[in-house]
Amino acid sequence: MTGPAPDGTRAADVLTVVSVADVTPSVRRVTLTGESAAVAAAGPTVNLLVPRVDDPEPRWPRIQRDGRIVWPEGSHGIALRSYTARRQDPAAGELDIDFVLHGDGPAAAWAAAARPGALLAVAGAASLAERPARWLLLAGDETALPAISRLLAAAPPETSGVVYLEVAGPAEEQPLAAPAGIALHWLHREATPPGESTLLVDAVAALDRPEGDDVFAWIGAESAAVRAIRADLRGRWGLGRAQHHAIGYWRRGRAMAPAG
Ligand SMILES: Cc1cc2nc3c(=O)[nH]c(=O)nc-3n(C[C@H](O)[C@H](O)[C@H](O)COP(=O)(O)OP(=O)(O)OC[C@H]3O[C@@H](n4cnc5c(N)ncnc54)[C@H](O)[C@@H]3O)c2cc1C
Repeated sequence: MTGPAPDGTRAADVLTVVSVADVTPSVRRVTLTGESAAVAAAGPTVNLLVPRVDDPEPRWPRIQRDGRIVWPEGSHGIALRSYTARRQDPAAGELDIDFVLHGDGPAAAWAAAARPGALLAVAGAASLAERPARWLLLAGDETALPAISRLLAAAPPETSGVVYLEVAGPAEEQPLAAPAGIALHWLHREATPPGESTLLVDAVAALDRPEGDDVFAWIGAESAAVRAIRADLRGRWGLGRAQHHAIGYWRRGRAMAPAG
């Protein structure tokens, strides 16, 4: 991480691809390397600056003290996208990001073409907005699987609860370590396109609210499904704002933001 310039901005942290591996048919793990401090700061949720495929010298934006991005003038082709650091190892200077290869969009295209030596930059990070609770509901699709894997890994062993993970089919399931009291359910979309199934919404709708208030629900998936689940949890379950975090991880038919 480089220090601030006289105008108070600093360079974005640039990471270099060291390896690429297909975790499942539609998920590509990109392992990146960078300075220890940059890797430590790049997660769990990370704002990626994704250059055009094969751009040898991306014109990275700069970052203001308050985290705002100062974009370069003119066309630069860099897209800002939110992802999750599946693994951060600052000592080794390594970071894994699992990209869903959904076939469209600058980030999916970049991941599909990523080779060792390719560059990606980081423009900030955030928490997963989780709260400690004795009972957890975690629900999401492939895009939220990295976040859910981290939430499960961080849950104390005495935690109980339910996880619903919607994926295309058995080949998309990944081994996940979870406390013994958490029941993990894989939901298979089969031929239904991503973002068009009601599997997650239906699964939560069929779930009774656990007793007590020591409950936290974390939901990440396509926006319409998240909206429906959020309404169910606030209405039928009566969860307060501090008892749930439900955000759209992507929007069907809409890019998250245009590339510059
Ligand atoms: C906090 C947060 C963390 C996230 N973590 C991850 C992560 O770790 N891994 C990951 O893969 N994604 C993750 N996502 C989702 C990712 O940011 C979106 O899928 C994003 O749209 C991908 O950008 P893109 O440039 O590939 O596509 P965009 O340019 O945003 O979209 C182009 C087209 O692709 C469609 N599309 C986008 N995503 C999908 C999808 N998953 N399946 C089918 N169609 C899609 C859009 O509807 C649009 O029509 C996360 C999102 C958030 C908000």
